Amino acid sequence: MQRIGATAVIVSFLSASALAQEKPASAAELMKDPTVKAALDAARAAEPQTIEDQVRFCEVAAPPFKETARGTLLKTTFEQLGLQNVRVDKVGNVLGDRLGQGARPRFVIAAHLDTVFPEATDVTVKRDGVVLRGPGIGDDCRGLAVLVSIVRALKQANVQTPGSITFVADVGEEGLGDLRGMKQLFSETMKGEIDRFVSIDGTGVSITNVAVGSHRYRVTFKGPGGHSFGAFGLANPIGAMGRAIAKISELQVPSHPKTTFNVGRVGGGTSVNSIPFEGWMEVDMRSSDPAALASVDANFHKAVDSAVVEENERWGKPRMITVTKDLVGDRPAGSTPESAPVVQSALAVNRALGLAATLGEGSTDANLPMSLKIPALTIGAGGHGSGTHALEEAFDTTDSWQGTQRAVLLTIALARK
Ligand SMILES: [Zn+2]
Repeated sequence: MQRIGATAVIVSFLSASALAQEKPASAAELMKDPTVKAALDAARAAEPQTIEDQVRFCEVAAPPFKETARGTLLKTTFEQLGLQNVRVDKVGNVLGDRLGQGARPRFVIAAHLDTVFPEATDVTVKRDGVVLRGPGIGDDCRGLAVLVSIVRALKQANVQTPGSITFVADVGEEGLGDLRGMKQLFSETMKGEIDRFVSIDGTGVSITNVAVGSHRYRVTFKGPGGHSFGAFGLANPIGAMGRAIAKISELQVPSHPKTTFNVGRVGGGTSVNSIPFEGWMEVDMRSSDPAALASVDANFHKAVDSAVVEENERWGKPRMITVTKDLVGDRPAGSTPESAPVVQSALAVNRALGLAATLGEGSTDANLPMSLKIPALTIGAGGHGSGTHALEEAFDTTDSWQGTQRAVLLTIALARK
């Protein structure tokens, strides 16, 4: 056991195991099909247009919970490219179908509309040679542009698929969006209709098959408060919070699978000479293992509750301090096993195109289907990104067509029996 300090989501890559060396016939076989080849050629030839789309989508702001304008742009684009049944669901996910010979399998491929940037952020994209700079340019304007490129390449090469494909530009992937687009998609909009799911998120050619889940809480401690001298002897909400933080800091968590906790923000108090009536903190816990996440969550609850009891006992005033713990983020953990056909297909597609075939973990839209045991993964959208979630975010377009081609070939592979 090892105590781990909390960090932001880390994408760590594991090398593919011997099992993954087997190539399912599909990818290599598919590459020999003239129609598939034509689609891959079309994707490469259209890369300048993909980059134009990336810039165009990015220059329409999509702050958290305010994705409508960018969603409308995607809806129009889906319609112009001839997708069927183009629709917007009640939370703002934009969907369009490309029907195959049969309704099933139904493959859903998605990219997220939302960014982490607030309204009034300058979303102008600046071009500096092969590098594009602008907030959201990689995460996930690149994913949206590749999503559209797949539609265009399949159309241009007139690819027929046995199964059907639904393209989705979704809301609420980032932060407090809390996967609300995916929650709506899987619980209502397309409930029971999705056989396979891929999210295109961020850059590079990675394959993410392990979902790091997270629980986030805002914890509020309350008491009567009073004068620091005159009312001395009252239990103190910030005292209780300090005890809680000390206990949380001592929690033991497994290092494999990596499981973390963090008290990220604290606040409260009235003045230096007041016993506060309130203190609050925000806590984040993460793991790719649902059981480990549940365990650290349970220990966090115990730590907070016992801290309150101790603070009240210290001052001999039972129940003077009270606490509420509000769940403000709940991204489920899960994974798609390396042996699953979707993962094997993704690895085979990368190899067939001469790209690195490695698996990693992350926190993305695919968390939701993975937690429901629906075969799912997340792929990067090509190119090279830096400064994700920063105003200086950049995207290097060098060989970015490789990411587009990979997404096209994987789509064709997963829209089959
Ligand atoms: Zn993203």
